[in-house]
Amino acid sequence: MTIRFEDIAEGALQGASEPEKWDDWHWQLRNKITKLDELKRALDLTADEVAGVEATLTKFRMAITPYWLSLMDPHDPHCPIRRQAIPSQSELHQASSDMRDPLHEDVDSPVPHLTHRYPDRVLFLITDQCAMYCRHCTRRRVAGATDAAVPQNAIDRAIAYIEKTTEVRDVLLSGGDALLVSDDRLERIISRLRAIDHVEIIRLGTRAPVVLPQRVTDDLCTMLKRYHPLWVNVQFNHPKEITPASAAACTRLADAGIPVGNQSVLLRGINDSPTVMRRLVHDLLKIRVRPYYLYQCDLSQGIEHFRTSVGKGLEIIESLRGHTSGLAVPTYVLDAPGGGGKVPLAPQYLLLRTEKKVVVRNYEGVISVYAEPEPVPPDLAVPDPVSSTEQQQRQQRAEGIYALLSGDRISLEPHDLKRKRRGGETG
Ligand SMILES: *Cc1c(COP(=O)(O)O)cnc(C)c1O
Ligand code: SF4
Repeated sequence: MTIRFEDIAEGALQGASEPEKWDDWHWQLRNKITKLDELKRALDLTADEVAGVEATLTKFRMAITPYWLSLMDPHDPHCPIRRQAIPSQSELHQASSDMRDPLHEDVDSPVPHLTHRYPDRVLFLITDQCAMYCRHCTRRRVAGATDAAVPQNAIDRAIAYIEKTTEVRDVLLSGGDALLVSDDRLERIISRLRAIDHVEIIRLGTRAPVVLPQRVTDDLCTMLKRYHPLWVNVQFNHPKEITPASAAACTRLADAGIPVGNQSVLLRGINDSPTVMRRLVHDLLKIRVRPYYLYQCDLSQGIEHFRTSVGKGLEIIESLRGHTSGLAVPTYVLDAPGGGGKVPLAPQYLLLRTEKKVVVRNYEGVISVYAEPEPVPPDLAVPDPVSSTEQQQRQQRAEGIYALLSGDRISLEPHDLKRKRRGGETG
């Protein structure tokens, strides 16, 4: 059973006890909590929380849906639901490694609101609005900056870029929260993308199913399913977020044929524990949501208190892989500061590799050897289906470390290497 808002805040919100209002996402948004006095009326705040909200609101936005508020433990300031939503004074701490745009999303941006980092896919920020402003948000320089829709001419320019850039086969609509635009507006964007031949798949990045599950209406699903193949990624960080309402939202998406993936952020004191993570990934599979990524927390401003070590993330993956369904194990990624993109991090299972043998360990600690294939004697060999010219072409295309293996290069060096400038240039 869903806990209704009035259970915590009797009479604080007009209409909270009327299901037709509670279940209307516009009502939820209209009644978002954005100010300290509203929050005080709804919840017994600790002195620290009051100070945190007061100080932080001068710098960052706060928004909490009545639904999210209803999930908070009114007696526990460490409640994971509370900590993701209620500003704390730690957000004002500027760590030495903090950056405004750690992932260089604004740098790798050929047109405003669009980041083209990877060869074949783009990130298209269609709004800066979110139903809830997550305290750990990596894109907090954007999220809530204007709390307004992106102007139509900016949308047009971004779509024009995708149209003329034929290598883009995957468009990821995000924000903000991609589902905080109206069905009509969203459909206008999606239908135009669908009309572009080279755009194979469209993805939506949204936390609405988690923080505003009422947003996932039947009408929305009916519209979305007309534009398949369409994928949705959500963000559940803690098992407490899986409620009858959020489960129903994910079910509606899955029933519309939309595969739903989850991108968790590793957060200190919230989910940086193998036990919590294991419960989360199991509960996600039960609602047909596939754990996709576990993100190492970025170097965005004022979120150092949420960060935990890479060692902790590896320990969590170690505790999952092999011990439970492979479907439950997300890829742990670190988004490299400066625009390097997502780098997968995994415990070391490959212990040794020689030309002929590979030594691995498994989740139980069993160490095994695997023999690499040896050349088949020429009289028994089946001709290679790939022609030799094709093979040559493939080798010519070898890049990065593979160029070392193919013999095309003997070293890879940073551009403008200091050592090389020290007079050796002519030699
Ligand atoms: C995460 C991200 C994507 C999508 O990455 P996948 O690994 O394909 O999910 C695309 N563009 C940018 C800029 C991203 O940060
Ligand atoms: S929903 Fe996403 S973009 Fe919006 S505040 Fe949360 S983490 Fe940031």
